[in-house]
Amino acid sequence: MAWVLRLVEMGTEDPAQAIDVMEIRRPRGLHDLTNLGRTLAEAKQLLARVQQAVVARQAHDHALLRPDCSVCGERCHLQDWRDHRVATPFGTVAVRLPRFRCVGCGHGEPGISWPSYCRSTPELDQLRAHLSALMPYRVAAGVLAHLLPVDAGKSPETLRGHTLKLGEQLRDAAAVVKPAAAASAITVTLDSTFIRSCEDGERHLEVRVGNIETREGGRQVFGAVARTDTDIAVLIHGGLEAAGRTASTAVTAFTDGCPGLHSILTEAGVTTPPIADWFHIAMRMQHVKQTANGLSADAPGRMQAKTAIVAEVERLHWRIWGVLQEAHGKGVQHELTGRVDKLRER
Ligand SMILES: [Zn+2]
Repeated sequence: MAWVLRLVEMGTEDPAQAIDVMEIRRPRGLHDLTNLGRTLAEAKQLLARVQQAVVARQAHDHALLRPDCSVCGERCHLQDWRDHRVATPFGTVAVRLPRFRCVGCGHGEPGISWPSYCRSTPELDQLRAHLSALMPYRVAAGVLAHLLPVDAGKSPETLRGHTLKLGEQLRDAAAVVKPAAAASAITVTLDSTFIRSCEDGERHLEVRVGNIETREGGRQVFGAVARTDTDIAVLIHGGLEAAGRTASTAVTAFTDGCPGLHSILTEAGVTTPPIADWFHIAMRMQHVKQTANGLSADAPGRMQAKTAIVAEVERLHWRIWGVLQEAHGKGVQHELTGRVDKLRER
């Protein structure tokens, strides 16, 4: 059995244009189940040919558009033709487009609405990035080549390059989103922790996470693995912008007190020194309390000393709490109270 797959253009005033895309041949009987319908290889070929035919027609129509000179406004004349190779999910297509030159001033025009540099369609870029986010680059490249007639830009290195580029674009696009209202006060909390590998000899990942909150209730969260391409300072900076930071916004930062986190905040534009937050102070106080409680009390003198030390540590604990409250006002007090409540629940 044989068929011809024909594309017939619709909606044109001229007599309908028809293109024979490919001949399809299959055995008549179904004695062998492998003869049932089209195979994956044939389907890929079919997709690629339909794509080529459609693009050729689109390029033909696009080439009829004549631009005006962007310098002097004169009409442009055809100079020559150039082939552009563009990778799509259904194969790399050749787009033949004219280049123009102004008759008045000699300025060259690339043509109407055609990007000066374009190697792949946005859909293919997104598909490559999507698969790369779900699986290793090598596996993603294999899946792509297995299912689609993708014939260019399918190496793991290309996939990695495209994915990172797309990620950068998303990050930069997110950073420029400005809210309508300026925030009067912003609280930034930054902390770091280690995610330990369950395998021996694998590296542990240091992760930095935090959030940005406004008094009005706005909230942004951020996180990044340390020593990778993701710059946490850029994320925080973008988050502050998105939260509505202006020159007059009061920014209060909380960290665990480590100098590394302080320098990240400085880099992100948080100039006031960060405050060691109540949670981390309480953790350290907990350690001091345990040491005090572990002191021996086997003699009357020691017993007396231990009681005094335990009472003093307890007093110090609440003294720090009081100082923090006084120093950072009522807005911060709410934040600190919440943290103490969480700590008490533990
Ligand atoms: Zn001109």
